[in-house]
Amino acid sequence: MSTGTEQSKVWFERAKAAVPGGVNSPVRAFNSVGGTPRFMVRGEGPHLWDADGNRYVDLVSSWGPMILGHAHPQVVEAARAAATSGLSFGTPTIGEVELAEEIIGRVEPVEQVRLVNSGTEATMSAIRLARGFTGRAKIVKFAGCYHGHVDALLAQAGSGVATLGLPTSPGVTGAQAADTIVLPYNDLDAVRKSFVENEGEIAAVITEAAAGNMGAIAPDAGFNAGLAEIAHEHGALLIMDEVMTGFRVSRAGWFGLEGVAGDLYTFGKVMSGGLPAAAFGGRADVMAKLAPGGPVYQAGTLSGNPVAVAAGLATLRAADDSVYAALDANAKRLGGLFDAALTEAGVAHNVQYAGNLVSVFFGDGAVRDYAGAQATETWRFPAFFHALLDAGVYAPPSAYEAWFVNAAMDDDAFGVIEAALPAAARAAAEAVKP
Ligand code: PLP
Repeated sequence: MSTGTEQSKVWFERAKAAVPGGVNSPVRAFNSVGGTPRFMVRGEGPHLWDADGNRYVDLVSSWGPMILGHAHPQVVEAARAAATSGLSFGTPTIGEVELAEEIIGRVEPVEQVRLVNSGTEATMSAIRLARGFTGRAKIVKFAGCYHGHVDALLAQAGSGVATLGLPTSPGVTGAQAADTIVLPYNDLDAVRKSFVENEGEIAAVITEAAAGNMGAIAPDAGFNAGLAEIAHEHGALLIMDEVMTGFRVSRAGWFGLEGVAGDLYTFGKVMSGGLPAAAFGGRADVMAKLAPGGPVYQAGTLSGNPVAVAAGLATLRAADDSVYAALDANAKRLGGLFDAALTEAGVAHNVQYAGNLVSVFFGDGAVRDYAGAQATETWRFPAFFHALLDAGVYAPPSAYEAWFVNAAMDDDAFGVIEAALPAAARAAAEAVKP
């Protein structure tokens, strides 16, 4: 099936000379699974093709954005049409108003939206705004939740920080991290205690609406509602980070599944259709503090870029109920296949969902927090990953990442996964603890 990896190897050598580690985002380098990262040249529907001509069923979906599958004709046409009318103006445009209105129409607690270029920028700006609004400095975040590479939020973050085993990052100064309080996920008592100990000092709690960067870990029933209650009792804001879950797990993101309102929201990924765009938004009285109407400064040369906005709008407009039904069904089907193959191979495992985010934890028992995720048998993952890759299934190259289905997955794609899984499960079973 595989036509080799010569081209990817050649390009990776060239990449390593020109780009640190050969990649522009660490997890792409395959450090935690070993081997050569595949250089992709084309995507269509549920598939990717690499530079050697190998075809893969893609279970990463660009880390979330591609809910419709790759190169969806409506999204490509919208981007093409926008591009032919000019790539960037640095003025207000009609499309960015329509995208803001689409987001506001989908997520009830969001009354106003500001567009930015990445999820990192969205969380950075939301935190600045929360601090400016409350006049307080401290932020509560949860271990294993990743909110982008914002200095103050790189404390016990998930995603690539977890994958590389970095407790935090050199370059983040003590002063930048000093106002960040890191607590265990799903632990409301810890949150209550922290608010008492830091009375009047906490500006906001930031949480992934459902955790997806330490594997898929849904909040316990009542956790998000408890966060809102405690934060408000103490005059702080709740920032719901829906960069990963937004417009993916339902048309209104995690809010659509749970109905717990945050004061501020951050979005990215799906709302950009795969181009660089993201957003933060929320209560109008809080958003009113932003420049130019208010004193909290925030800006961007390419913010609201017309091509990215067109791709995002086309994606959201195409994402109707049938797309969300397909995403949910595909997630359950994938999880069911994992379960069957790993059970057959005798590997203790736990398939977890947060909406239609899926992950496989090796070992016994449900995982509720970062410590639980770190205690799983992650050493089984590289063998599982490579057996899938060799059989044409592109999985996230890290045990700590969620798997992202898309609505373009069909019986043919699932046939490839089903055929690949028995050998991958056996490889996981035979993996030896280092
Ligand atoms: N917040 C969450 C929940 C994310 O999953 C991510 C990225 O994966 C980010 C923020 C950062 O987004 P970006 O990579 O676009 O900066």
